[in-house]
Amino acid sequence: MSKKFLISNWKMNPVEVKKSKDIFNGIKDTAARSKKSEIIICPSYLHIPVLKGLYSGKKIKFGAQDCFYESISGSYTGEISPAMLAEFGVEYVIIGHSERRYLWESNKVVNAKVRAAISQGLNPIVCIGQKIRDNEGAFFTVLRKEIEQSLKGLNRNDLTKIIIAYEPLWAIGKSCKEAIDPEDLHTMKIFIHKVFSENYDRETALDIPVLYGGSVNSSNIKKLIDGDVDGFLVGRAGRDPEEVSEMLKALNK
Ligand code: PEP
Repeated sequence: MSKKFLISNWKMNPVEVKKSKDIFNGIKDTAARSKKSEIIICPSYLHIPVLKGLYSGKKIKFGAQDCFYESISGSYTGEISPAMLAEFGVEYVIIGHSERRYLWESNKVVNAKVRAAISQGLNPIVCIGQKIRDNEGAFFTVLRKEIEQSLKGLNRNDLTKIIIAYEPLWAIGKSCKEAIDPEDLHTMKIFIHKVFSENYDRETALDIPVLYGGSVNSSNIKKLIDGDVDGFLVGRAGRDPEEVSEMLKALNK
């Protein structure tokens, strides 16, 4: 797989629409020069239409940070459906981020959301990751369960729409020195593909992009690329246009 992804999750930031526009305008110019990688911006729901309105290019794709598990409409106060996102030109949606799993989302809920998103033509970015990396390797079992339950019942065609973001919780929001080691990252990518291979087949498995997230920035991205992942899901550094520019440069090499 040659195309690399840079996914920028803005979380509940910034408050002001003007600041969102400033960040977006900064990223827009860099993105235009990006040849080999795809950049996906995931701002707050409210800011998506505003930023989309500023952009007529094709390089930047838009993603949401979540969606509801009923795909179209209904009596679900406060929820946003995948159909509503698609209506606004959103192409990707992050599902099962650890900050949402921490609140209430089980693998079963993640699975329902993934299916709803696919039914409306969205590409789910499914987050998986374990709390600790124990020496006995029990975390592999946790991950296998997350993958198998979160993606239960999907067919091979559905899987062509999925991106996996491996985000070990111990590495999120730390210093870049505390990001995963590239060799360990490579092992995790192989393991994730192995689980898909066992549940489907090797060819299907190897086509699924596996990204890494957790304290990635312009200082450590070059080293992390050696982990042979298909791109990165970034939090803090993804809201800084200069950081995004440097990370894209590294990914395009
Ligand atoms: C995240 O929260 O998904 C994340 C990767 O954050 P950060 O890059 O800030 O560690």
